[in-house]
Amino acid sequence: MSAEMEKSEVAKREEETLAFWNERKIFEKTLEKSAPNGEYVFYDGPPFATGLPHYGHIVASVIKDVVPRYFTMRGYHVPRVWGWDCHGLPIENIVEKELGFKHKKDILHMGVAAFNERCRERVLTYASEWEKIIPRIGRWADMKNAYRTMDKPFMESVWWVFKQLYDKGLVYEDYRSMHICPRCETTLSQQEVSEGYKDVKDIAVTVKFELVDEPGTFLLAWTTTPWTLPGNVAIAVNPDIEYVRVNIPRLEDEEVILHEENYILAKSRLDAHKPILEVLKYDARKLETIMGRDLVGKRYKPPFDYYINDKNLKNRENGWKVYAADFVTTDTGTGIAHEAPAFGADDWALLKQVNLPFVQHVNGDGTMKPEVKDFAGVEVKPRSEEDNVRLGTDIAILKYLQEHNLFFSKENIAHSYPHCWRCDTPLLNYATSSWFVKIEAQKDEILRNARPINWSPEHIKEGRWGKWLEGARDWSISRQRFWASVIPLWRCEKCKTARVFGSAQELEEVSGKKIDDLHKHIVDDIVFSCWQCDGEMHRIPDVLDTWFDSGSMPYGERHYPFENKEKFEKVFPAQFIAEGLDQTRAWFYYMHILAVSIFGRNAFQNVIVNGIVLAEDGKKMSKKLKNYPDPMEVVEKYGADALRFYLLSSPVVGAENLSFSEKGVDEVVKKNIGRLGNVLAFYQLYANDTPRDWKSGNILDRWILLRLDELIREVTKGFETYQLDAASRPITGFIDDLSVWYVRRSRDRFKTADFSASAASLRDPAESSAVSQSTSPDSASPRLAFEAEKSALDKRNALATLRYALHDLSRVMAPITPFFAEYIFQAVRESEDEESVHLTNWPEARATANFIQRIFGAGKDDEQLLSAMSFARDAVTNALMQRSEAGIKVRQPLTKLTIKHEGPEPIFWKDIAQIISDEVNVKSSVLGARTELDTAITPELREEGAVRDFVRSVQEARKKAKLTPRDKVKVFYGAGADEGVLLKHEVEILAATNAAELTKGEGEVRVEKI
Ligand SMILES: [Zn+2]
Ligand SMILES: [Zn+2]
Repeated sequence: MSAEMEKSEVAKREEETLAFWNERKIFEKTLEKSAPNGEYVFYDGPPFATGLPHYGHIVASVIKDVVPRYFTMRGYHVPRVWGWDCHGLPIENIVEKELGFKHKKDILHMGVAAFNERCRERVLTYASEWEKIIPRIGRWADMKNAYRTMDKPFMESVWWVFKQLYDKGLVYEDYRSMHICPRCETTLSQQEVSEGYKDVKDIAVTVKFELVDEPGTFLLAWTTTPWTLPGNVAIAVNPDIEYVRVNIPRLEDEEVILHEENYILAKSRLDAHKPILEVLKYDARKLETIMGRDLVGKRYKPPFDYYINDKNLKNRENGWKVYAADFVTTDTGTGIAHEAPAFGADDWALLKQVNLPFVQHVNGDGTMKPEVKDFAGVEVKPRSEEDNVRLGTDIAILKYLQEHNLFFSKENIAHSYPHCWRCDTPLLNYATSSWFVKIEAQKDEILRNARPINWSPEHIKEGRWGKWLEGARDWSISRQRFWASVIPLWRCEKCKTARVFGSAQELEEVSGKKIDDLHKHIVDDIVFSCWQCDGEMHRIPDVLDTWFDSGSMPYGERHYPFENKEKFEKVFPAQFIAEGLDQTRAWFYYMHILAVSIFGRNAFQNVIVNGIVLAEDGKKMSKKLKNYPDPMEVVEKYGADALRFYLLSSPVVGAENLSFSEKGVDEVVKKNIGRLGNVLAFYQLYANDTPRDWKSGNILDRWILLRLDELIREVTKGFETYQLDAASRPITGFIDDLSVWYVRRSRDRFKTADFSASAASLRDPAESSAVSQSTSPDSASPRLAFEAEKSALDKRNALATLRYALHDLSRVMAPITPFFAEYIFQAVRESEDEESVHLTNWPEARATANFIQRIFGAGKDDEQLLSAMSFARDAVTNALMQRSEAGIKVRQPLTKLTIKHEGPEPIFWKDIAQIISDEVNVKSSVLGARTELDTAITPELREEGAVRDFVRSVQEARKKAKLTPRDKVKVFYGAGADEGVLLKHEVEILAATNAAELTKGEGEVRVEKI
C-alpha cells in the first residue's frame, strides 16, 4: 500500500493528526501531566517575523522540538514559550527601504517617533504565517503566549540587566578606534564586524613623505586606505629595523624627468620594490643603511596641508614627525607606516602614547569634511557593486598624489575587508565614543563557567566557541540607532553626574511621569533636574546593541526579577538550547557573558549546534536562483516527518553543512515511513484483539524484541548525549530488520488461521491441509487438532509480538517523527493506553522483563541469538547473490545450501537453518568448509518451481481483482500453462490460493470470486 501511496496522502494524514492534537489539546496535556523528574528548562532563540521561515529556521525548530518531546516522555515538565525578536537594524533597514531612505538623516527628518512606530507595525508582518508553518512541521510551542522583545516587560528586564552590570562596574564609556557603518551611522561590535568579512579588491599605494630638513629625501609609506591620507599626523618606523636610503640620480630622460631624489624604506623590502626602482635607474652602489631609531624625530611634510596650519589644533607640535613603534613590521609595504589615528587601532594607540594631534577628516556618515577642500563632501567608501565607484575616492586621492609628486607606486590587491552585516556597506575604522561591557577583565570567570557546558558536536567547545572566548574583547554595546532597547542612563549636561535606571518604576518616581513604553522616542522626552547642580538630566542618546536583548532573553522572557522571581531562580540555568553555528559568537556568547556578569554562572548546560542547509549543488540557497525546493512544498509532498527525519539523521545536526536533496527526503519516505507503513498494513490485515506481549519463545519474536531493546538503548543514548543523528539513524536499521526480516520470515505465522498461501505450506502439503481442516469445526483427528492449536498459538505470539514492537517503536519514534508515530500508536493502541503517543513514557529496554526471564533461565543466550540471526542474514545475502549470479530466481526451489562455518555448531542452529532455508528456498542448509549453493535443478524441483510460479500469478490476479485473502475464488489458467503439472498439484494449488476450482481459461491467469 504505502509504496504506491500518493505523496499528498501523507500530508493529509499529518494534517488529520494535527487536527487530532489540537482538538484533544494533546500539547497542553503534555504540559499538565505529572512530571516526576521536575522542570527541564529550554531557552528559545527568538526569530524575526520579517520574513517567512527558511531551512535554517526549520532545522533549528526541529531540533528544538525533538529534545523537549524526548524529555517530556522522560517525565519532565518542559515549557516551551515562543518568542519574537523585534528590535534592531534588520527591521530598521526594511522600513528605511520601504520609505526610500538613503541616510540616517532621512530618519531624523521623519522623526524618531514616527519611524519607530512604523518599525513596531512592520516587525510582526509574517507572524501569522509562522503560526501556521511552525505547528505544521510538527513543532510544539506555546505561540499564543509568546513574549516580544519590544514589549515593556521584556525591555524592563533588559534595563535591570544593564543596571546589574553598571552597578558592578562592568560598564564604561571610552573613546577609541571602532568599526562603524557609514550608511547606518553606528558603531558595531567585534562580533558584528566578524560576520561581515568579504574578499574585495582595493588599491594599495606607496606614498612619498618628504623630510623637512632633507629636501628631495622621501620616506616611502604604504597604505591600503588612500582615503585616510588627509588624516595623516605621523609616520611610524620600527626602531630596530634596518632601513636604506636609495639614490635616484638626476635623469634627463624624455619619459621620466626627475630631480635627484632619495627614498627611505626597510632594507628587507628593497627587493619587493626593485622593479620600479630599476625603472627609475636607481644607483645600486649608493645604498646607505640607517637604523630605524635614527629616523625617529625627523619632521616631514604631510601630503595634504588641511590641518598642519591650524593653530588651534591641540598637540599640533607633536604632529608630522617620525615615531618609533613596535607594531611596524616588514611583512608588507615598506616597513614605514602612515599614521591616521582617527582610522586605525594601532594609530589610535600611538596617539594616546605620544599625544599626537587628533585629526578626523571624515564624518560619521563617511563623507569628507568641508576643510578637506579638494574632496569636501565625497564619500570615502561608498557601497557599490562596481569597483570604480567603491574605489572612486581612493582613485581621486591617487591622482592628487601623482600631480603633486607624492606618488611612488600602486598595486591592486585582493584582501578580506569587513562590511556591514546588515546593509553591506564597507565599514570604516573610526575613532569614536562608545559604551562597553568589560569582557577582558572577566575572562577567567567567563572561561571557568564555560567549562561545564556540554556541546554537540563536542569540537565546538574548544574550537569555534573556545577560541572566540579566548580572543574576546570588551563588548561595544552602544548603537547610534532608533528601534531598540535603550541605554537607561541619564546624565547631567552640566556636571556629568550619571544615573542608571533598572526599572520603569524608578524612572517614574524620579521624573513624576507615567511610563508605559521604554522606547527611545518616549523616554528621550523624560528630562529632570540634577540633584548635584542646577543642570538637567537627559538620557544619553545611544540605544543598546540588539544582542543585549538576545543575551537578556532568559530574564526578559519571564520579566525577571519583577515577576517569577523565585521560580526563575529555581530553574536557572537552562538545560538545553539550540541554534546555528553562527550563534557561537552571538546568542550563545552574549547569554553566557550576561549570566557570568550577573550571577557568576553559565546560562545553559547543553547546546546543540546545527550547520547550514545549502542548495543541492552545495551553493548557498538563493531565492533569486530558486535553487532549492520551498520547504512547505516538501512538506506537502513528502510530509513533515520525512523532512524532520531527513534533517535529524543528517550531518546538519552535527554543525556540518548539508546540501539539501529532495531525493534524500524521498529516500527517507521509502526506507522508513513507506516500509513501516507496509508493516503496519500487514499487521492490520491479520490483527485481531490479541493484546501486545513480549513473552513469546519463538526465535523470531525473541530476536525482534532483542533488536527493539538495542534500538531503545541506542536512541536513548543519542538523546541523552544530545547527538540527534545518533538518536535517529538506528531507527532505519530497526525498520529494515522488522520489515524485510521479521515480518517477511513470519508471514506464514500470521496467515495461518485464515488460509495458507505460504511458501512453507507448499513444501509440506500435509501441514497445509491440516491447517485448512483446522478451520472446520468437526475436525476429528487429535493430531490435527493439536497442530491447529499450535499454529493458532503461534499466530497469537506473532501478533502479540508485532503489536508490542510497533507500540514501543511508535514511542521511540515519537520525538523524531511525531505524526507517523501517532498514526502507528493509534493503530496498535489498547483501551487502557494513553490517549496519544506523546502522553506516554519513554520505553525502557526490557531490563525488568529480562530479569524475570532470567529467573527461569531464559534470556542468558540473548547475545548468541542476536549473533546467530546476523549470521543467518549474512548467509542469506550471500546465497541470494549466488542465485542471482547463476540466474536462478528465488521461486525455483533448490536442494542444498552449505554455509561456511568453523568450530562447533552454534546454538539456535536448528531454528536458524530453517529460517535460512525458507528465505533462500532450499530443501536444507548445512554447515561446511565453504559457502556453496547447489544449483542443480532436478525435474522434481523444476516442477515445484513451476507450481510456485503459478501460485504467485494467481495471487497477483487476486490482487488485481482487489480480493481479500478470505474471498474464495475460481482459478482459470492460461493457454501457456503446463496443464499436466498443474493438475498433478491441484490440491496444493487450491489450498495455497484459497480457490475452489481450477479450470482452463484463455490468455492470462484469471480469478473469479465465488
Ligand atoms: Zn550598515
Ligand atoms: Zn549636575
